[in-house]
Amino acid sequence: MASNGEQNQTSEAGRHQEVGHKSLLQSDALYQYILETSVYPREHEAMKELRELTAKHPWNIMTTSADEGQFLNMLLKLINAKNTMEIGVYTGYSLLATALALPKDGKVPRPRILYKENYELGLPVIKKAGVDHKITFKEGPALPVLDELVKDEKNHGSYDFIFVDADKDNYLNYHKRLIDLVKVGGVIGYDNTLWNGSVVAPADAPMRKYVRYYRDFVLELNKALAVDPRIEICMLPVGDGITLCRRIS
Ligand code: SAH
Ligand code: CA
Repeated sequence: MASNGEQNQTSEAGRHQEVGHKSLLQSDALYQYILETSVYPREHEAMKELRELTAKHPWNIMTTSADEGQFLNMLLKLINAKNTMEIGVYTGYSLLATALALPKDGKVPRPRILYKENYELGLPVIKKAGVDHKITFKEGPALPVLDELVKDEKNHGSYDFIFVDADKDNYLNYHKRLIDLVKVGGVIGYDNTLWNGSVVAPADAPMRKYVRYYRDFVLELNKALAVDPRIEICMLPVGDGITLCRRIS
């Protein structure tokens, strides 16, 4: 969100003035540059197919951006993640980005994926990419599923990486449970923590209804994560903002 005169210089007048625009960079041109130089030329063909398929879906605003998909894929490889979980699947773009990064080995514990709404769009592509065997679904709202997982001590400290990208008004409820499930040294990634730039918008700024509704929850989450002594954090302006939390105790 440009706070100086810069916003008037962008050729796509308006896009960066509205709170609720996805790119947090100073111009759309800069974001396009990243996509065209580093992301699209290296994007896995299945990722491209799913991205294009999802673009035609009415709720496509929810999908993970291609640059963030590339980031998640790289991150999982860097931390050598094996057991992962995702909350908030939609058509499965971030799921595919992470599944492609997991080791092929069949003996590896599978990620648990919750709530498969709209996933039927992505499943054929994920099957074609040959990574569907790395995915296990647990259907339904995430909270009761997490409560079940937490009940079993065996699950405690068993996840290397957990990506949270669902209902923002529940993130703090998820955090209470996920902190037990992620291993010490493992990572929880909370997505959309810059919430379309609205976290710094004045209360009377024009905002879409859903942006305004979830904004307070995101602000509350960000405050809580910043003072949580059990984690180290790093908030990255990738996509719509992702806060990485590394469990330290
Ligand atoms: N990561 C996805 C985008 C997720 S969009 C991608 O890369 O495309 C948010 C998703 O969270 C939606 O599919 C929605 O159905 C799901 N969701 C919303 N509330 C939920 C809940 N209580 N439990 C689990 N999933 C939920
Ligand atoms: Ca998201």
